[in-house]
Amino acid sequence: MAEKQGKGMTKEEEDLYQEILSWTREYAKEKGLALNTDDRQFTAVIRGLVRNRLKHGERYCPCRIRSGDPEKDRLIICPCAYHGKEIEGEGHCHCSLFFRPQ
Ligand code: SF4
Repeated sequence: MAEKQGKGMTKEEEDLYQEILSWTREYAKEKGLALNTDDRQFTAVIRGLVRNRLKHGERYCPCRIRSGDPEKDRLIICPCAYHGKEIEGEGHCHCSLFFRPQ
């Protein structure tokens, strides 16, 4: 699994990348979920979360459209309100970050 994705990232982005990476692993462990084993996909989602957090102030899902209404958009702050059902039904969340354990 990718530890460092520093290419083209500022120090702030890199620090936040590591923070969100740690959170993601912690959360998966706590909930008994697996993580995407495809490094490129995994990294792209984490980078998307970093971008949204820096740009919009929250860890908004990079695979969903924000409405712009912070109240509604709370539902799509990672871990979004939908991931549990998605993992149950399809085996992974919409972004393919979290997976049902094998
Ligand atoms: S779909 Fe996955 S990555 Fe996107 S917010 Fe939900 S849990 Fe996070």
